[in-house]
Amino acid sequence: MTFACKHALMGQPTSQNKPAPRESPTLGILWGILIVLFLNGLIFPNFSGRRIMETDYGTFISKVDSGLVKNVMIKNGQIYFTTAANGDTITTYQTGEINDPQLVDRLLNAPSANSNGKISFSEIVPQENSPILNFVLMWILPGIGFYLIWRMAGRTLQTRMRESGNFLSFGNSGAKIYADADIKTTFADVAGQDEAKEALKEIVDFLHTPAKYTEIGASLPKGVLLVGPPGTGKTLMARAVAGEAKVPFFAISGSEFVQMFVGMGAAKVRDLFKQANEKAPCIIFIDEIDAIGKRRDAAYGSNDEREQTLNQLLTEMDGFDGRKGVVILAATNRPESLDKALLRPGRFDRRVQMELPDLQGRKAILEVHLRHVKHQEIDLDIVARATAGSSGAELANIVNEAALRAVRMGRKQVSTADLEESVETVIAGAQKKNKVLSPEEQKIVAYHETGHALVAAMQTHSAPVHKITIIPRTSGALGYTMQVEEEEQLLQSRESLFNRIATLCGGRAAEEIACNTVTTGASNDIEQATRLARAMVSRFGMSDTYDMMGLETVGNSYLGADTSLSCSAATAAQIDNEVLQLIKDAHDKARAIISAHMDIMHKAAARLMEKETITGEEFMAIVKACTDKR
Ligand code: ADP
Ligand code: MG
Ligand code: ZN
Repeated sequence: MTFACKHALMGQPTSQNKPAPRESPTLGILWGILIVLFLNGLIFPNFSGRRIMETDYGTFISKVDSGLVKNVMIKNGQIYFTTAANGDTITTYQTGEINDPQLVDRLLNAPSANSNGKISFSEIVPQENSPILNFVLMWILPGIGFYLIWRMAGRTLQTRMRESGNFLSFGNSGAKIYADADIKTTFADVAGQDEAKEALKEIVDFLHTPAKYTEIGASLPKGVLLVGPPGTGKTLMARAVAGEAKVPFFAISGSEFVQMFVGMGAAKVRDLFKQANEKAPCIIFIDEIDAIGKRRDAAYGSNDEREQTLNQLLTEMDGFDGRKGVVILAATNRPESLDKALLRPGRFDRRVQMELPDLQGRKAILEVHLRHVKHQEIDLDIVARATAGSSGAELANIVNEAALRAVRMGRKQVSTADLEESVETVIAGAQKKNKVLSPEEQKIVAYHETGHALVAAMQTHSAPVHKITIIPRTSGALGYTMQVEEEEQLLQSRESLFNRIATLCGGRAAEEIACNTVTTGASNDIEQATRLARAMVSRFGMSDTYDMMGLETVGNSYLGADTSLSCSAATAAQIDNEVLQLIKDAHDKARAIISAHMDIMHKAAARLMEKETITGEEFMAIVKACTDKR
């Protein structure tokens, strides 16, 4: 980034809290001197005036006697003399003084090239400059010169950066942030998230007609914290609030305080609030606030820069008048890591939750994004059901992938099939068309996937099979079985979780029974099954031994499962046993189901090897045909 370059070029000191001066003269001169040190030897080898040549006393006397010498001066035990041998070139010589009593007589009597025929004593022979003058000429002057050039280059760079329309510029006070006054995003662009919108509408209303609130004496919360998993539209929502309220919008990301403006975080916060106060009513939006708002304790490590910035933020939030109409929005997906001081009343005391979208929400988000692409009649229901657990950002990505696929296929409109394929691309990676499996491998993969599908189909409390495929994917999957829930499940029963583990074991069980082997293909299944089983024992209270005891705590609910055990080592060992038992039971169940339905296994696997992909309906038709025959 250009900003980083600039820092490096100008050698800005990285002092911690005071706003660093944009440039420091002493530093500039130092730079100049350093450079001169290198250049001097090259460019000014004999800068110190005319040349003085060393010679010996004998030569001096012989030159005097032959009448070549014009001037002589004796100083500090040295004899300096000039000659004019051929015409006008004057050469200065230097030689050591020797105790020679006849020297004066000799000089007085000697012939000379001077017009009066005498050697002159009076004129001062050119000599070396004084050491101080020399120093000034050789070091200081070029130093200043280089400093000036360096400064000018800095100026030009700065002007260019400002002209290129960057929102941030370096002023003497630190850094400026410019408000975005014309935001087009509205609540209509944010699909679903109705509760969040409801909560934020009040803020918008306040910014429109503050009088309504101030009449009663009510002041709105100064700070609103948007929390939720990544990609749920927090940033989007903040922009929508600004767009709806039609007020200036100061947006900055928390990391910018600490990364881009080293040593300037606090100054920047001050500047931000000063400007916002002038522009009120307006909105300040601090994205990813956890970058500066982390709890100030030992567990999170301390960082001077960040704490300075945070302290400044706390001070500013206390300092301004809530009734003036400055609303601060902030977003984070790590609310548990925020400093308590940030969350107390008077600061970010209102929390707006942005959740992963449910079925209706996903449909709405797909609709919003499909507005921007040309498409045929789309079966939104299928796509929305296949994307359980996806965030808004992922759904936006899926729609875009589908549009790209349509272009690739030379079509003018996006179809449902495009969307379904792009769901798989996002989940499992793109198809690897040219990867060829050996017939033996293909057979194993086919039986493995059929095993998953069969175990799923033979259990109640288990999502129906949607699709089975053995086309390798770029993610490394050699095939996969896609199950899609009929409807959204908010509660998971012990049975359905256990069945899920059994389904995961189905692939390996099929390898064992049908192919008489075990392969590495089950590694992902093993991972998932183990995680599920462990959660059942340690977090969901689903084992008989531990009853309702919580054995594990979840660190962050939004950023995935970083859990930590909260029990003794002895218990931890026993938990492992419980988990193992659970998985063994599920594996046994899967083996039993597959052994009992080998006819279905053979038939479905054969069809899969032939067609590479079969739908859930095709698979269920095979299941039904076989069970009817019995
Ligand atoms: P976050 O800040 O929560 O990580 P973003 O606001 O950056 O997520 O969302 C990224 C993108 O995902 C948005 O630009 C938008 O295209 C899409 N998106 C997320 N949530 C929604 C939603 N509820 N409605 C429409 N689009 C959404
Ligand atoms: Mg964001
Ligand atoms: Zn598998």
